[in-house]
Amino acid sequence: MSVAEAIREKLSPRQLFINGRGEDAANGKTIEVRNPATGELLTTVPDGEAADIDRAVTAARASFEKKTWRGMDPSKKEKILWNLAEILAKNAEELAVLESLENGKTVREAAGSDVGPAIDAFRYYAGWVRKIYGETIPVDGGFLNYTLREPVGVVGAVVPWNYPLQIAVWKVAPALACGCSVVLKPSEMTPLTALKLAEFAMEAGVPEGVLNVVTGYGHTAGEALARHMDVDKISFTGSTRTGRALLKASAESNLKRVSLELGGKSPNIVFPDCEMEPAIRSAFWGIFGNKGEICSAASRLLVHTDVHDKFLDTLVSRAKRLKVGDPLDKGTGMGSQISQVQMERILSYIKSGVDQGARLMCGGERDTAGSNANGFFVKPTVFADVKPEMKIAQEEIFGPVLSAIRFQSPEEAVEIANGTIYGLVSAVWTRDIKLAHRMANEIKAGSVWINTYNGFDTASPFGGYKQSGFGRDLGAHALEQYTNVKSVWVAL
Ligand code: NAD
Repeated sequence: MSVAEAIREKLSPRQLFINGRGEDAANGKTIEVRNPATGELLTTVPDGEAADIDRAVTAARASFEKKTWRGMDPSKKEKILWNLAEILAKNAEELAVLESLENGKTVREAAGSDVGPAIDAFRYYAGWVRKIYGETIPVDGGFLNYTLREPVGVVGAVVPWNYPLQIAVWKVAPALACGCSVVLKPSEMTPLTALKLAEFAMEAGVPEGVLNVVTGYGHTAGEALARHMDVDKISFTGSTRTGRALLKASAESNLKRVSLELGGKSPNIVFPDCEMEPAIRSAFWGIFGNKGEICSAASRLLVHTDVHDKFLDTLVSRAKRLKVGDPLDKGTGMGSQISQVQMERILSYIKSGVDQGARLMCGGERDTAGSNANGFFVKPTVFADVKPEMKIAQEEIFGPVLSAIRFQSPEEAVEIANGTIYGLVSAVWTRDIKLAHRMANEIKAGSVWINTYNGFDTASPFGGYKQSGFGRDLGAHALEQYTNVKSVWVAL
């Protein structure tokens, strides 16, 4: 029996994870979790609502006030987080298959981009536990002044479906390292690995109530968490629209701290002197990796006019050969979109590209070949002759649709690059070191990659400029999200 078959057989209806125990939703209702690649029903999870969020927040608050976690010896906390990384590593294959089943991404991508980074994040933040401390500050007058870095309290983590485990861990690992207690609300479409994470955390030694998971919809469970008066902080990754709703919820409740990792429409800028093969490969995987459902997708390809046609011809011929299909097959290049709604959204953007006069070079439609007809597959799509003001150059599509735009000068490239509401990531391809650094200065984005794309490391901060959000995940910067600084004055 394959791992996938074994997992399917084991998938009994899931429960919420509150105070270290499985619980049903107070309303008794459930949500179906389906495999988007096949339409098969995988299992159900509780349709958690405000009452369940309230129970979870109460448990998190109790653990925080009793100091069961934050009061634990730092070296012990460090060992527990490291232990959790080891448990995830031991179960890596199962987690990758589960992620592929609920999300439709290839199992290769789930292993490399979800499970691998999740393991690394717990190892990295385990190392921080004993290194989070304050400072002594020379002040005027006869005083001793020092700071304490204290855990912010109860953290609500609201996460999306595109990298379910990875993004959940980007919140949970630093929050736990700082001594916070957490209520995690995964996407209603991909709740299974978050529930597994909570079980593994208990197994690793995280005390009950410190990590709780409430499954449910955004407008009910998510909203209840965002408006809860006893939540100190919301850490969010998702759409810009929901980001606004969370800010509003904070403003209308207890002014809880909010950090937002939102959408993107990222420019990937190719100058004619660059090394072409890695640039083409990165442009390709930058948009077709994870079926384009990546906040950091290289969705706008800005190519210098001197190399434009050759660059696109190669890219398009590869896109036509990309194998789209069964995500569990290790030879598959691109899996299924997350849902019918998402697929239709992507197809409607493709239609708008055609309607507005962009040149469709390949793809442009649903892929229904063979068993793909049961899932939500979209053919890798490339548009040329895209104008910066077109909808497909301005709005986040969140699918395998590339918009290629021609440019002539660095100044024009900068203007196009900065000409959207977003500012998440960007890339520049050139051998000219001065030009590369000048571009890095001029582009308004949280990351600039030079002669590479999608460079990620747990140690390096990630987050947006402009309407791509604020606050940083990863690295030492994430610790600022989960700590308060207290200034203590002692008259001497
Ligand atoms: P989404 O905003 O619809 O949902 C994200 C989460 O928020 C889900 O758990 C959802 O249930 C919840 N939610 C929805 N409405 C809510 C509300 N009113 N109150 C509280 N919670 C609510 O986003 P999505 O469709 O799941 O994910 C796709 C989006 O996420 C894209 O726009 C993408 O760019 C963005 N994203 C950003 C990053 C990043 O790091 N910047 C990473 C991944 C995805």
